[in-house]
Amino acid sequence: MIPAASFAGKRVSLFGLGGSGIATARALIEGGADVLAWDDNPESVAKAGAAGIATSDLRGADWAKFSAFVLSPGVPLTHPKPHWTVELARGAGVEIIGDVELFCRERVLAAPNSPFIAITGTNGKSTTTALSAHILKAAGRDTQMGGNIGRAVMTLDPPTPDRHYVVECSSYQIDLAPSINPTAGILLNLTPDHLDRHGTMQHYAAIKERLVAGSETAIVGIDDSWCAQIAERLERTGRDVIRISKRLPLTDGYFADGTDLMEAVHGRYSRIAFLEGIGSLRGQHNAQNALAAVAACLKVGLDLGEIQSGLESFPGLAHRMEQVGRKDHVLFINDSKATNADAAAPALSSFPRIYWIAGGLPKEGGIEPLRGFFPRIAKAYLIGEAAPAFSATLGEAVPYEISGTLAAAVEHAAHDAAGDEGGEVVVLLSPACASFDQFKNFEVRGEAFRQAVNAVAGVKPIGGAR
Ligand code: ADP
Repeated sequence: MIPAASFAGKRVSLFGLGGSGIATARALIEGGADVLAWDDNPESVAKAGAAGIATSDLRGADWAKFSAFVLSPGVPLTHPKPHWTVELARGAGVEIIGDVELFCRERVLAAPNSPFIAITGTNGKSTTTALSAHILKAAGRDTQMGGNIGRAVMTLDPPTPDRHYVVECSSYQIDLAPSINPTAGILLNLTPDHLDRHGTMQHYAAIKERLVAGSETAIVGIDDSWCAQIAERLERTGRDVIRISKRLPLTDGYFADGTDLMEAVHGRYSRIAFLEGIGSLRGQHNAQNALAAVAACLKVGLDLGEIQSGLESFPGLAHRMEQVGRKDHVLFINDSKATNADAAAPALSSFPRIYWIAGGLPKEGGIEPLRGFFPRIAKAYLIGEAAPAFSATLGEAVPYEISGTLAAAVEHAAHDAAGDEGGEVVVLLSPACASFDQFKNFEVRGEAFRQAVNAVAGVKPIGGAR
């Protein structure tokens, strides 16, 4: 745990008592703060009380006495409308921050030069975070990974000069971290997502930009126009910017040429790493993730040999194009993490003949952006609330059925794929939707897929994420 010493002797209010909220409250108390916490859910309040955290309905609190208000990133700061605690904090002029901000302040106090890689973007954050941490660890660096992935950031070990931090940041966390200042800040890409919580694309992009604007070196994926503009803007204000591209040769920066990762210096190219044969980093999207991780690892002093060997031993993450089973010519792929059309595109582009399981809670735009992949889809199996809308988009272009449940979809897709005589095919869960209509989260959905696949007679499970 990182005791939050920056609030020693001060009163702090905190709202949101999920796992990270409780961890943050504990870190504040450990650092000597006087914390008053609350949640709209009585069960969470009871849990915090049992963990020794003082709780009280913050409607009745004297807000003038608080030095800061710590908000859980899951609670609306701005959209669709500010949470009632946010209104109270603003009314009393109390600063509103989150756990990543607390982390940044502690790092500045304890070990301001400790290498700190922060990662954001619409898609690929977790892969890039896990990959960067894996490369550092494999090179023998003392490495802590957390934030929006794995451990809440305040549960990591305290900063020391040699300790490396790799922190995944959601836009909500950045919104609550005004002083975020990583050694290497990564902005992978920007496409519309979470607009229910951010209002407009402009607002969403402006929040993400803050992470790279505060970085010593900003590593920006310039394959979309939002990020390209951000890179330009940062450079104009004199920031150190490294551009990466998964598809374009750059004059300066890092880019992918097929599976080769290239460095460009004033238009001269050299190969710095390669992804050929690395099953966990298949696809152009992973070239973007790998380029970002490589750039960040170079920035914190790794050499190319260490980086290549870390890339090669990366096991990948569950639920992201994860191979879970095989039966003869049919490979079963779990891409449950693909919760919007952009995230589903990489998997659809990686396989030539697909029995596609899609649906759930639909996101804006549906699957229209995936139309270019429709010729690869042998048949679609639609589940959840999105099924009627998705079937309308597929129309005459792709055969489909409305399977309703994931279990039925797997059973039917496995049966149809088994009878496919066109060689290697995949049964792919890449839903292009949130899971919440039928599952607690994408992990539970992915596990349900794995179980349904294992229940198909004759399937051999594939372990690990390769
Ligand atoms: P995040 O943490 O940002 O949600 P993940 O690394 O968990 O991202 O990947 C989520 C999904 O997005 C996966 O299904 C994957 O296929 C897709 N994806 C991963 N990296 C990228 C990328 N750089 N660009 C577009 N899509 C990606």
